[in-house]
Amino acid sequence: MNVTELARQLRIHPVKLLTILPEFGFDVGAKAVKIDDRVAAQIQKDWRRIKFVLEERERKEREEEKEKEKALRRESGAKVIIPQILTVRDLAERLNVPVNKLIVELMKNGILANQNENIDHDTAMIVAQDMGYTVEEEKATGKEETMTSHTANLEKILLTEEGMIARPPVIVVMGHVDHGKTKLLDAVRNTNVMGGEAGGITQHIGAYQVIWTDPKTKEKKPLTFIDTPGHEAFTVMRSRGAKVADIAILVVAADDGVKPQTVEVINIIKAAKLPVVVAINKIDKTGADPQKVRTELSQYGLIADDWGGETPVVEISAKNNLNIDKLLDTLMLVGDMNEKAIRANPDRAAAGTVIEARVSKGEGPVATVLVQSGTLHNNDALVINGEIYGKVRAMKNYRGENMESAPPSTPVRILGFKLAPAVGDVLDVGQSATAQNVDVKNKRVQQSGAEQRPIQKVEKLKNDEVSVKIVGKGLGNISADDVGKAQAANAVIYGFNVFPASVATEMMQKNNIPFRQYKIIYDMFDNIKEELQKLLNPELILTELGNFKVLKVFRSEKGSQVLGGRVEMGKLLVDCKVRVKRDGEIIGIGKLARLQSNKQNMSEIPAGTECGVQYEGKTKVEENDILEAYKEETKMKKLVLDK
Ligand code: GDP
Repeated sequence: MNVTELARQLRIHPVKLLTILPEFGFDVGAKAVKIDDRVAAQIQKDWRRIKFVLEERERKEREEEKEKEKALRRESGAKVIIPQILTVRDLAERLNVPVNKLIVELMKNGILANQNENIDHDTAMIVAQDMGYTVEEEKATGKEETMTSHTANLEKILLTEEGMIARPPVIVVMGHVDHGKTKLLDAVRNTNVMGGEAGGITQHIGAYQVIWTDPKTKEKKPLTFIDTPGHEAFTVMRSRGAKVADIAILVVAADDGVKPQTVEVINIIKAAKLPVVVAINKIDKTGADPQKVRTELSQYGLIADDWGGETPVVEISAKNNLNIDKLLDTLMLVGDMNEKAIRANPDRAAAGTVIEARVSKGEGPVATVLVQSGTLHNNDALVINGEIYGKVRAMKNYRGENMESAPPSTPVRILGFKLAPAVGDVLDVGQSATAQNVDVKNKRVQQSGAEQRPIQKVEKLKNDEVSVKIVGKGLGNISADDVGKAQAANAVIYGFNVFPASVATEMMQKNNIPFRQYKIIYDMFDNIKEELQKLLNPELILTELGNFKVLKVFRSEKGSQVLGGRVEMGKLLVDCKVRVKRDGEIIGIGKLARLQSNKQNMSEIPAGTECGVQYEGKTKVEENDILEAYKEETKMKKLVLDK
């Protein structure tokens, strides 16, 4: 048989057929034109198996290719900007993939849409993230545009050359969950508290300062640490264009190495062009392998200084306070090397960024601002994004001490806001003469609107019987605090693209607190819907069957009677329920446990038939009573959500 003929029958290209045949044991030669008929028949017989192997291999290759592309995008920090609403075709262009491929991806997420159909931002975001992209929202409203201009304005202030002198460097600690960021922040705080009073009572205000003593000159210099472990707050600030930190500490656990969040942080650091110091933590642990961490980091372009590269690396144990001083020395050194960028003019109106904000029960709205330029004084106007939110009534440092003024690089907790600002908002006292008072009522509505996705969306899952109550929510990994809150409220914890801290996991396990973790928002919604469905009371469905007229009572016992009569309309079913009606009034209920016609047990008796029934019920039936037969079924209600 001709190879081309066989290939035609098998629906494969002849060249490809010849290439794959040897692998399946058919040695026909790479350039064969004809194939022995017997061999051809064997190939045809084996074709299903061969085809399956080929298809599986191709599928695997496609998956691997997809994973590779995804990893590449992730590592290179590929970004895509997604507007609130866009067509499938538009999204495909932005993601640089063929439209039909994207349609298949959407189908995997349960969305059937053709290329001209619109999809919403959340869906587009999920698909893009799944492909390894970092997603940025397209700034849609005027509000966001002005905010960008405020951030740009702050940047301009920070770059003003006049009167600039050195200020303390601001440090942010980032790294994979459980690698020791919190422990490191604690260790730094405890070893070197501002003013030398180690062990003093510090308060969490989102940042703190320590004093470093130059080992040679004994000169004392402050450093500011952003005290929000994890890079979430930092990411939120950065997504809004805010620049707060001068140097990043990348924490990598020596026994765990580079992990997905470590890589994420590396990308963020690179994108922000932040100088970095790597702290290889937990070197006290057995199984610690700092050299392996160096090798892994080098794969992401961070070559350790002791390996001839430019990235300072310090091996530490946050738990045992080992080399914390060395880490501080290194940070100061990096600060000195970047001295030109770490300057500010203290003699101007203060400008800075909100790094923490909340509404406190006793104090009302409070926020911590990192002063980045100028000096903040009591009674200064709190101009946030160009609007006056109040004035400084009191300022406290991280030790709870009142302050009269706060120079550059100082974090201060401020009282006097009429409305809580948001993390990343810009404070610029210099605009007080031109700024308008904030419209508190209107802004609150806007703020609650801004929080809608995805958590508010969850709250929309309700109808008049059941609803979702959110007892707490927040950005970042799940903390012991979150677990405590869930426990008190008997709630379920849902994590969306976050992890629980190890203490949180322990608490959840110990106290049996339900925890669900999701990467795909629709899966999370589906689960919540299922949970709501379970809470609905089942629906009782009554079906009327027919009427039975009692003509004779044959026998009466307690709770049971044998009756003779006629089915006047509809039908009777064995085990059906009945309402006993006398003179037009319902006087009781019971059931028909047995039906007999012509001395035969029946399961159903139609209208017009005379029959005997065994009635069971408390109400005693008499001649001429009517038994109204009906069927009762319970059915799970279907959850129909409010729009
Ligand atoms: P984070 O999620 O990065 O903030 O990590 P944590 O600071 O909460 O630390 C996670 C776990 O690692 C905790 O149980 C810490 O006690 C432990 N840990 C942190 N640093 C060290 C260290 O240097 N050595 C050891 N043996 N354990 C540490």
